[in-house]
Amino acid sequence: MPVFTAEKLAFAYNGAPVLRGVSFAVGAGELVCLLGPNGCGKTTLLKLLLGLLPPTAGRATVGGRPAHALPPRELAAAVAYVPQAHQAAFAYTALDIVLMGRAARSLCFGPPRAADRDIAMDALRRFSIDHLAGKPVTQLSGGQRQLTLLARALAQGARALVLDEPVTGLDFGHQAKFLEILRELCAEGYTCVMTTHFPDHALWVADRVLMLRGGRIVADGAPEAVVTGELLGRLYGVDISVFPIAASLRVCVPDRISRLCRDAAGGA
Ligand code: ADP
Repeated sequence: MPVFTAEKLAFAYNGAPVLRGVSFAVGAGELVCLLGPNGCGKTTLLKLLLGLLPPTAGRATVGGRPAHALPPRELAAAVAYVPQAHQAAFAYTALDIVLMGRAARSLCFGPPRAADRDIAMDALRRFSIDHLAGKPVTQLSGGQRQLTLLARALAQGARALVLDEPVTGLDFGHQAKFLEILRELCAEGYTCVMTTHFPDHALWVADRVLMLRGGRIVADGAPEAVVTGELLGRLYGVDISVFPIAASLRVCVPDRISRLCRDAAGGA
């Protein structure tokens, strides 16, 4: 059974349609990258998969059940959300943040049990940030904060992760490290659906790419089939070329940047 499905999913904010007829299924262990221009409905689609918004038509399912109708604790057991590594507003410690993942699953909001602390510390240890457990998240770097949010998702115990631009704001090295960790998690059977503004990231790590434009899925397939100059050009409205640089690696470059570099090099 698929982990997530979108079945002729539609959504409108106050009568203004944002998603129309969106259908796809995500299998266990898949890493799916959702690409699309600003405002095309990526975050809205993630919110529907997370059960945070009710569809105006069709349905979004998690583990075969409608996401929006699942009781919060059951939903939290099935799927966890990893937001962008934005600036933290409150000075919770990294351990507090990860413990929030445990609280999402408990019956009442009492003090965390020793077992919850152990699970939270294990999750921090997994990403080699256990030494930061007592540090306020306001004092962590973007990369450390993002790993803390991933640790929270793991401590929650859900095997499906929905990640909204998880590497936006991270430096190049941390982007690569974070994406590599997602690949490792998928190899262990976790399922990841993530948005990104970088089609190269889809080429680096995705099993599948969904392209969303104007609230519709305009392409769905393996990265090598879908991340092409033609489809990227249509998606983002600029000419883009995809160059092979090794047997198993390609890079995406906007044509205007290729021209700029050619001109700077004297038209060679
Ligand atoms: P993306 O994540 O692809 O940038 P969003 O899903 O955030 O796109 O937004 C899709 C569209 O829905 C945009 O036009 C946006 O302005 C609109 N939108 C997003 N959130 C709301 C909201 N809470 N109320 C009304 N319109 C919204």
